[in-house]
Order: sequence, then structure tokens, then C-alpha cells
Amino acid sequence: MKKRVLILSISIMIALVVEIIGLYGILKLNKKNSNHAVGNENESNLIEKDIGNEETTETKPEEATQETETETETEEVTEEQPEEIDPNKPMIALTFDDGPSSETTPRLLEALKEQGAHATFFVVGYNLDGNEDIIRQAAEQGCEIGNHTLSHSKLTSLDDASLDSEIGGMEERIKSITGQEVVTIRPPYGAVDDHVMEHIHSPVILWSIDTEDWKTRDVNSNIQSIQQNVYDGAIILMHDIHPESVEAAIQVLGWLKEQGYQLVTISELGYYRRGGLTTGVRYGSIEPN
Ligand SMILES: [Zn+2]
Repeated sequence: MKKRVLILSISIMIALVVEIIGLYGILKLNKKNSNHAVGNENESNLIEKDIGNEETTETKPEEATQETETETETEEVTEEQPEEIDPNKPMIALTFDDGPSSETTPRLLEALKEQGAHATFFVVGYNLDGNEDIIRQAAEQGCEIGNHTLSHSKLTSLDDASLDSEIGGMEERIKSITGQEVVTIRPPYGAVDDHVMEHIHSPVILWSIDTEDWKTRDVNSNIQSIQQNVYDGAIILMHDIHPESVEAAIQVLGWLKEQGYQLVTISELGYYRRGGLTTGVRYGSIEPN
């Protein structure tokens, strides 16, 4: 009898132990599963957070840049309007076509910066590759980047599609580099007609003083051309791809300032003289009213 009771007790105990172990196992498994589930949630949370972070980092610099740009714009306006440029004093626009050139343009930019002078660069598409930093630098120091078309084609001989590509394509290229809207165009060779004008949605900038630098390739001749012909409101045509032109420009900067000329971009000349440039208008010079 005692033996039976003992065996029964042992059996019950074993059964209990087995059950407890079983329960523990199930519990453990459940716990593991739920942990795993939590882990998954955490992971997905992390992923979301990561995405969130990525989005933030993506937007932050843009926001920061925009803010900086806005600040810079505001600074420029407040600094340049009353202090740097006096609308009642003579001003001229030096313009440089067909660049940029890694060999000559940086020297010119340096000299312009030293003199606190601005200029306008009518750049061509085939000279942009590898020279992005140069036009970015030019824009940063207050110079203007204008459209001189993608491939320097004579616009009057192009069809509609080619005109849109040469003009619009170049605007996009410049904007993708500088981040700024392109607001002026100089048609290669100054060649425009009514058909071309239908495809141009910005002011057209020609010139009033042609140094013929590309023809003479002579420093002194370029300097003399500027010194003998300069007047208030003049738009001067040069080419920064030629070392002689850049040398002449560098040498004449100081003289121009001594004569009281403020060296401004085309858009600044238009702004201070006419309250802005007008789309569809062809400008050869912008003299005082
Ligand atoms: Zn040109």
C-alpha cells in the first residue's frame, strides 16, 4: 500500500515537473516570440527613424542653403544698394564671352575680387565641363553668369527645336551649377531676329564698346580701346578665354575705378538705371536717364 502511494506520489510529482517544464518552455517560447516581435517593431521603428533622419539630413542642408542664400541676397541688397553702388555715379558693365577657361578666368576673378568689381560672364556650354567651380566662384563673388548658348551657334540659322535646346538647355545647365536663375542672354555674334526673339524669354544683352580683343590679341590695344571709348552706362565686350584680354582687363581695372566708374554686372546696371532689365528688350548700353 505504501509502495503504491509512493509510486503514485512520484508519478504525480514527475507529471507536475514535466508540466512545469512544459509550461516554462511555452512561456519561454512565447516570451522569445514576443521579444522578437518587439525587436521587429524596434527595427522597423529604427528604419523609420533612419528614413526620417535621412529625410531630415536631406532637407536640412537645402533649408540651410536656402536660408543662407536668402540671407546672402538680403545682405547683398542691403550692402550694395546704399554703400557699394551709388546710382548717381558713373557705372559700366565689363562683359566676358566664350569662357570660362581654367587657364585665364580664375586670374581675372581674383583681380575683380581684389578691386571689389563685378563683371558679367556670358559662358558657353562646351566650356562648362570641369570648370563648374570657376563659374560657381564667379557667382559667389557677385559676378553674373549669362547665357551664351550651349554650342555658340548662330541663332538666326537655327530651327525652333534647336533654338529651344541651345537657349533653354544652357539656362538649365548654368542653374544646375550656380543654383541661380539665368536672367540675361547674349546671342553669339549678336545675331538675333524676330524668330530668335520668340524663343528668348530674357533681356538680350549686346554691347556698345567692342574691344575687338579676339582680333588684335594685344594687351595695350585692348586697354586703349577701353580708355578711349569708355562712358557712363557702357557695356564693354571682351573674351576671357584669351590671356591678352584678361591681362588688359586686370591692368585697366584700377584706371577705371580712378576715373570714378563703378564696375557692375549687367543686371546691376539695369537695376540702378532702369529699375530692372526688361524681357525682350535688346540692350547695347544703359546710359543715365
Ligand atoms: Zn561669343
